[in-house]
Amino acid sequence: MKTFESLFREGCLILETAGIEEARLDAWLLLEYVTGKNRAWYFAHSDELVQEEEAGQYKELCRKRSCHIPLQHLTQNACFMGYDFYVDENVLVPRQDTETLVEEALKLLKDQQEPYILDMCTGSGCILLSILKELPDAGGVGADLSEAALKVAEKNAERLQVQDRVFFTHSDLFSGEYFTQNSSKKQTEYDMLISNPPYIATEEIQKLMEEVRLHDPYIALDGKEDGLYFYRSITAQCSRYLKPGGWLLYEIGYDQGTSVSDIMKKAGFVHVNVKKDLAGLDRVVLGQKKKREEQNV
Ligand code: GLN
Repeated sequence: MKTFESLFREGCLILETAGIEEARLDAWLLLEYVTGKNRAWYFAHSDELVQEEEAGQYKELCRKRSCHIPLQHLTQNACFMGYDFYVDENVLVPRQDTETLVEEALKLLKDQQEPYILDMCTGSGCILLSILKELPDAGGVGADLSEAALKVAEKNAERLQVQDRVFFTHSDLFSGEYFTQNSSKKQTEYDMLISNPPYIATEEIQKLMEEVRLHDPYIALDGKEDGLYFYRSITAQCSRYLKPGGWLLYEIGYDQGTSVSDIMKKAGFVHVNVKKDLAGLDRVVLGQKKKREEQNV
């Protein structure tokens, strides 16, 4: 039997040898995941013995991580906006960069009563569900082309206990029945449309790190030829789903600020603005559908 310390060292070595970026951190997080022990406990008890079965499980997970399977797929958990989301190979792992998008949305919605939000390409549901957690009177719809992703989003809604305020629907952008049937006012009138669509140009995908290139779903990454397909398509179709004065918010790649702003301005959006993430890179474009009184000017 091994002590916690020697097992942890072994984990570090496996991951460092495989060239995993944050080897020590990942080795620690996997140890915490398998044994359920936190850091404070570990520092006081690192010379205690680890059960054989747990040690085996830990080494197996380190081996998988050394093959560049993302840590979050192994622990089936990703922290986003301070909430724990279930994730698996069917969804894009929520990124910290995307928190910038949620924060901008919250600023715009803070004084609005009962805002109703559409999250297009919802994936794990992380964007919409964290907005609903922050705004207890908000409701919304999440749409995605992937049925498997929608199952993950539904699971997350239950996990975060907001399932009564959200509805997930299968749709290739606006072509799904939910949008085309058009039977209720709610389906056509959103205060905000928010999206982190696939935005990597097809030929750039092969240059991404292995964790992303091989393990995030391809359809969650591929923004087609120049990476702008979804911005063009959503912007062109979304106006009839937004209330006058409603907001459209996108996450973008660091070099897409100007192109996406132009797409939105050409479609008639006003107050179009680019916002930066914590690294100082362009990350969000937002714009407002003209208010009723502005519409003829
Ligand atoms: N909306 C999800 C996220 O931001 C999924 C995005 C995607 O699949 N491109 O994580």
